[in-house]
Amino acid sequence: MSPVATNGSTRIVFLGGLGEIGRNCFCLEVDDRILVVDCGLMFPDADMPGIDLVLPDFTYLRENAERVEAVLLTHAHEDHAGGLAFLLRDIEAPIYGSALSLALARNRIEEAGMLDRTQLIAVEDGERRRIGPIDCQFVPVTHSVPHGFAVAFFTPAGTIIHTGDFKLDLTPVDGRRTDLALLGELARRDGGVRLLLSDSTNAERPGFTPSESTVGTAMRALFREHPDKRFIVTSFASHLHRVEQVAQAAIAHGRKVAFVGRSMEQNVAMARERGFVDIPAYAVLDIEETARYAPGDVCILCTGSQGEPMSALSLMAAHEHKHVKVSPDDVVVISAHAIPGNESNVSRVIDSLHRAGAEVVHDRTSPVHVSGHASQEELKFVLNLVSPEWFVPVHGEYRHLVHHARLAVDSGVPADHVLICEDGDVITIDGGAEVERRAVPAGYMYVDGIVGDISHGVLRDRRMLSEEGVVVVIVTVDAVSGEIVTGPEIVTRGWVYAPEAEALLEDARQVVRASIAEAAEEGATDFDTMRRHARKSLARFIDERTRRRPTVIPVVMEV
Ligand SMILES: [Zn+2]
Ligand SMILES: [Zn+2]
Repeated sequence: MSPVATNGSTRIVFLGGLGEIGRNCFCLEVDDRILVVDCGLMFPDADMPGIDLVLPDFTYLRENAERVEAVLLTHAHEDHAGGLAFLLRDIEAPIYGSALSLALARNRIEEAGMLDRTQLIAVEDGERRRIGPIDCQFVPVTHSVPHGFAVAFFTPAGTIIHTGDFKLDLTPVDGRRTDLALLGELARRDGGVRLLLSDSTNAERPGFTPSESTVGTAMRALFREHPDKRFIVTSFASHLHRVEQVAQAAIAHGRKVAFVGRSMEQNVAMARERGFVDIPAYAVLDIEETARYAPGDVCILCTGSQGEPMSALSLMAAHEHKHVKVSPDDVVVISAHAIPGNESNVSRVIDSLHRAGAEVVHDRTSPVHVSGHASQEELKFVLNLVSPEWFVPVHGEYRHLVHHARLAVDSGVPADHVLICEDGDVITIDGGAEVERRAVPAGYMYVDGIVGDISHGVLRDRRMLSEEGVVVVIVTVDAVSGEIVTGPEIVTRGWVYAPEAEALLEDARQVVRASIAEAAEEGATDFDTMRRHARKSLARFIDERTRRRPTVIPVVMEV
C-alpha cells in the first residue's frame, strides 16, 4: 500500500455535478488512495455550438493516476456513467456497481475499445466490501433506472453516506425498496453519520414524488381510451421499469410490442435475457412485422424522448424512418421529461408529430411520466433518518443546492454544519469538516465528435462565428513592388448576403486596395505587415458601415 500522505484525514474532491445538472463525479480519499464515485457527462447548452458532450476535467485524476484505486458506479445514467469510457483513456481501474448498472455501462466502454483497461465487478444489495483501504456498503435505493445504490463509506473520520440519485418509491415496480432500515441502522451505529451527501435535483419541488407504478395506471387508461390506434411510446432506454410497465400494459390490452432504436433494442434484449424485466416472447415483434398488424394491435417503444434529431422518434415524425411513419392513426406518448439543454429539441419533435396528424400525450397533458428524484418531503425524511453531523447537498444547479441546504437546516442540521460546495472544492474531514475552495481544476471538458476534448479558444471562435460570421479577403501581390496582381477577392459567410450586397463588397475591396497601396508606399512589402494592414482597415470598414464584427481573415499571397 502506498504511504499515507494526507495525515490519515479523509478528503472529498468534487469534480462535477455541484452547480450543474450532469457530469456527476467526486473522489473519496482515504489513506492516500482515491475512490472515484461516478463519472458522468452533461449535455451541451445552446451556447456551445458543435459540442456533443461535456465531461468533468480529469486533470486531477490524470495527475494522481497511480493513487486511483477504483471507480464506483451508483447507477447507470449517462450523467453518472457516461464519462467512464473517456476516463479510462487516462487511468486504468476496476469499476464496481450493481450487475445491472455494469451491464448498461458496458456497451459504451466496449464501443470505445476500453474494456481491457478495466474490470467490471458486480456488488450485491446490502453488501459490505473493502475497496482498497475504503470500507463500503451498498444500500439499495429506488430511482428511474433499476438497481441504483446509495453508498456508506466507513472511513477513519467516521461514516459518510452518499445517497446517489434516489426517490422514496414506496411501491416500486420490482418490489426492490429503498433500504430505509439499513440507513437508520447506519445512523445509530459507531457514533452516527459524520457526513451526508444527498441528491438535490428536486429540492425545489414540494411534497412527494409519485411512485413509478402510477405511470402503469396512466398507460392502461390510455390504451383503454384509444383501442383502435397504434401506440408509439418513447422513454429513456435505461428506464427499464418504464419500458416494462408500458409493454405489460400494452400486452394486457391485447397488443404486440416492438422495440426501435439502438439503445432501446440493446437494453431491452440484455434486460430480458438476464431476467431484469418480464416481457414475454410471444408478445414481441420485429419492427418489420408490425406492418402486418392493425394499428390497434401494436405498441412501438422507441428512443428519442429527448428530441435527438437522428433518433427513432424524430425520424418517424419526419417520415424518414424505414419502417414507421407517424400518421393520424397514431397516439404518441412521450414518457419522459426534457433534461436541461434539450427542451427546444423536444418541443420541435412534439410539433412535427402534430403536423403528421398524431395524437400526442406528454407529461403536461397526462400523468405519463414521474420523476426519479426525491422531492422536499422525501429529502427531509432522509435527513431526519440519517441525522448527519455535516451535510453537503450534491447533484444540482446552485439554486437546487441552496434549497436543499435550507431543508437540511429545517431538519435539524446546524446551519454552520451545512456546506454548499462547488466543483473543484475539497473537503477535509477529521476533527471537523473544512472546505478548500476551488482547490483542483474542475472546468468543463468539451467533447467534439471523435476529436476528443477541445479548448475554450475553439469554442469562443465558434460562438463568435455563429454570432458575427466570417469575412475572408484574398489578394495576390508582387513580392518586390508590393503591387496587387490579382484580387482582392472577398468571400463571406454570415456577414452579408453577398449577391445582394455587391456595392458594399466593392467598397470593401476598395478599402483593401487602398490599405495595401499604403503599406507598399511605406515600404512595408512583407507579408505580415500587409496582412495586418488589410485586416485592420477591413475590420474598421465593416464596423463603420454595418456595425458588425465578423472574424476577418486576410490571405495575402506573393508572386
Ligand atoms: Zn443524476
Ligand atoms: Zn440518475
